Amino acid sequence: MSRFHWTCESTDGDARAGMLHTAHGPVATPTFMPVGTVGTVKAMTMDAVRSTGAGIVLGNTYHLMLRPGAERVRALGGLHRFMDWSGPILTDSGGFQVMSLGALRKLDQDGVTFRSHIDGSYHRLTPEISTDIQHALDATITMCFDECPALPAAPDAIAASMRLSMRWAARSREAFVPRTGYGQFGIVQGGTEADLRAESVQALTDIGFEGYAIGGLAVGEGQELMFATLDTTVPLMPRNAPRYLMGVGTPDDLLGSVQRGVDMFDCVMPTRAGRTARAYTERGTLNLRNARHATDTRPISPHCDCLACSRHSRAYLHHLFRANEILGPMLLTWHNIAYYQRLMRQIREAILEGRLDALATSLRAEWAAEDWTEDEMPRPILPPVP
Ligand SMILES: [Zn+2]
Repeated sequence: MSRFHWTCESTDGDARAGMLHTAHGPVATPTFMPVGTVGTVKAMTMDAVRSTGAGIVLGNTYHLMLRPGAERVRALGGLHRFMDWSGPILTDSGGFQVMSLGALRKLDQDGVTFRSHIDGSYHRLTPEISTDIQHALDATITMCFDECPALPAAPDAIAASMRLSMRWAARSREAFVPRTGYGQFGIVQGGTEADLRAESVQALTDIGFEGYAIGGLAVGEGQELMFATLDTTVPLMPRNAPRYLMGVGTPDDLLGSVQRGVDMFDCVMPTRAGRTARAYTERGTLNLRNARHATDTRPISPHCDCLACSRHSRAYLHHLFRANEILGPMLLTWHNIAYYQRLMRQIREAILEGRLDALATSLRAEWAAEDWTEDEMPRPILPPVP
């Protein structure tokens, strides 16, 4: 079995196409990881997730420790077997969810005590406990336990929080049990302050991890400030390790971040949008609840081979959402994940062929363009009424 490592195949500007080698198989990067919070990518079967070309999915420590519990998952053979996903799984550390509990949690220098959102019971997470739970879940990639402050915050508050996260990163590393093909990622913090981000990168590279994540962005600072932070932070990060931007984002966020040297992403946007009738397409987003789709026999996208686009019309999806039928979210989540995976494949091919800037220009022009006309959409799903 191969050791956990990332190899660069090609660069185009600051963008990188590479391969992540893990105990659970390789993953081509740049990659988008569908979020499987509670051991399921909401509304999708694992066969559907696989069919989109997704190579790695996320699990969530906070949710899985509360239900069904890490020890039960371990006893049932680990998260891969439990959820029927034989590929790599990355688990977040629980830090972000716990911090967002607000009044339900109490932070100290050693960790966080919090109340379950399910039954109000008390639980505790420390760097050691979080790392042990991720081990019990059999996570291919374990994330460091960190504190993620809400932005905007005063620079001294961000500095104190970042330094606490760096002490916790050292403790997470100490608690991590090395196994062949498994890795652990440190998380760069420091808000939008360039000097704090630089200090954080230095602290993490001094400890040494198999990969490095950028945390604490996409929390309301806006795309311009997020990209500006990447512009100053990413060049400082190790070149021979994967870089993961946590919780990002829209198709345009992914494209701009890849152009700045990021390799891995996760976000609830495509799955959440799939449950609220919003479709991502090459021509921007569509709201399938909109009345203009009620008699539209065309697929969501002429470029998509998902089940929704190959078998069903916009009119049928519109009907499913209006009737609150569960098949609507199932089909549209599938479509949105298929779109995100297709986008990442397009971006990767363009990097390999040295034409990412040209692709970026045409993708952005298409996203801003109007919906396809009848002429541009030559394959209606339903036969015309005789
Ligand atoms: Zn589709």
